[in-house]
Amino acid sequence: MSCLTVERCGAVAFKRSEQNAIQVRMLADGRLNTGHAGVLLVERRGSYPLIDLRILKTSAQQGEVESGTRRKVKRLLSFQRYCHASRLLRRLVPHTPGSLHLLDDDYLGQAAHMLSKVGTWNFDIFLFDRLTNGNSLVTLLCHLFNVYGLIHHFQLDMVKLHRFLGMVQEDYHSQNPYHNAVHAADVTQAMYCYLKEPKLAEQLSPLDVFLGLMAAAAHDVDHPGVNQPFLIKTRHHLASLYQNTSVLESHHWRSTVGMLRESGLLSHLPADMSQDMEQQLGSLILATDISRQNEFLLTFREHLDNQDLDLQLASHRHFILQIALKCADVCNPCRVWELSRQWSERVCEEFYRQGDLERKFDLEISPLCNQQADSVPAIQIGFISYIVEPLFEEWHRFTEPSPLSQTMMGHLHKNKDRWSRLRYAHTPSDTQIHPSAEEPEPEGGGGGGGGGGEGEDIP
Ligand SMILES: [Zn+2]
Repeated sequence: MSCLTVERCGAVAFKRSEQNAIQVRMLADGRLNTGHAGVLLVERRGSYPLIDLRILKTSAQQGEVESGTRRKVKRLLSFQRYCHASRLLRRLVPHTPGSLHLLDDDYLGQAAHMLSKVGTWNFDIFLFDRLTNGNSLVTLLCHLFNVYGLIHHFQLDMVKLHRFLGMVQEDYHSQNPYHNAVHAADVTQAMYCYLKEPKLAEQLSPLDVFLGLMAAAAHDVDHPGVNQPFLIKTRHHLASLYQNTSVLESHHWRSTVGMLRESGLLSHLPADMSQDMEQQLGSLILATDISRQNEFLLTFREHLDNQDLDLQLASHRHFILQIALKCADVCNPCRVWELSRQWSERVCEEFYRQGDLERKFDLEISPLCNQQADSVPAIQIGFISYIVEPLFEEWHRFTEPSPLSQTMMGHLHKNKDRWSRLRYAHTPSDTQIHPSAEEPEPEGGGGGGGGGGEGEDIP
C-alpha cells in the first residue's frame, strides 16, 4: 500500500486514535500535510474510538492497543483469505493428497455448491461464511460480478477488484454481533434476489446492477456497532464531521469512495462516469438511513397509487434500487425462522452492548438498548410492525406480487406470530429464547441454501 493513497482519499480519510479529532478537522480544512501520510495510513478510515476518550477514559487505551494488534494479524490473515477465495472462484481446488488442504477441498466444494443456489431465498449466509473461512462477502461479490458479466462490461481489473472487495470486507468490524461483513453479505444476497424480480430484471442496465450490488456490499462498512444518537452524545468526531445528520450512512459512503480511489478500481473510466458512480452509490447508501423511512415510503406509495413508475427512466430505476436496498437491509424478519431468529438475537445483542456501555458511563440508556427492560421478542415485534411490514407491503404491491414476495410475506407473518407467542412466554428470568420448545421448525429452515421453489436461480 502506498502512502500516497491517503492523499487520494482526501476528506474521506479518517484516523482512529486519540489524535483523530484534530486530524479530521485538518482533513476537513484541507490542511493535512502529506508528510503525515505514513502515520495516517494504517488507521486511515476507522470509526474508532467508539466514544470520546474524555468520557471513556478507563480501558479505552488498552482496548485501542489490542484492537490495533488484532487488525495487524487480520491483515496478515487476509492474504490467506484472498488465496482461499481465488481458488474457489477459479474452481481450483488444491490437490495435495494427505495435506491440510483436504479440509479445504470439502469446504470449497460445499461453498461452490451453495453459490450455484445463491438466488434462493433460504440461502444460509452463516453457513456460507463458515465454508468460505469468513470470506463470504468477497466470494459472493466476485461470483455475482461474474454472473452478470460486470467485470467484462466495465473492463475491471481483477487484482483491483479483489483489493477493493478485500478492503471493504476487512473494514467491517467482525466483533460486532450484527453490523459485520456477514450482514453485508446477507444484504447483498437479498439484493441479488430483488434484482432478479421479473418486474425489474429486464429493465436494469449493467450500471444499475453494478451499483446495486456495490451499495449493498458497502452500505454499513466500518460500522462502529453503536447508533447515531450514541455518537452524538459522546461527541464522536464523525457526528461533528457530518453535523449530526445521517452520520453513519455518510461515513459508510465516504469510506467506500475512499476505498474505490485507493484501489483504483474505477480509475480507467472517464472522470465524469466514475464521479457519477460515486454519487449514485452515495444516494443508495444514504437511503438506508432508517430515520428517512417515511420520506421514501410516502414517495413509493404515491408512485404505486398513481401507477406512474416508468422503469425506462434512469431516475425511476434509481429510486427502485433505493427501495430494494432498504428492503434488503431490513429483510431479516422475511427470512425463514431459523435464519431470522439468529439475526434478531444478533441485532439485540448489539443494542444491549450499547446499553451496557451507556450504563457503565452514566449516559442515558437508549431506547431498545436496555437488556433488563427490552426483550428480543418485544424489540422484534416493534421493528416488524413499524419498519418492515409497511415497507414490504408496498414492495409486495410493486412486484404485483411475485412468488418471492409472497414467500417473504408468508415468513414475515409467521415470524411475527412466533415472536408474539414468545413475548407472552417470556419472563424476566428467562432471557434465553428456546425456539425448539415453541413449535417444530418451519419446513426448509436454514438448510444450506438449497431447495425452495421461490426465487429460483435465474442469473
Ligand atoms: Zn445494514
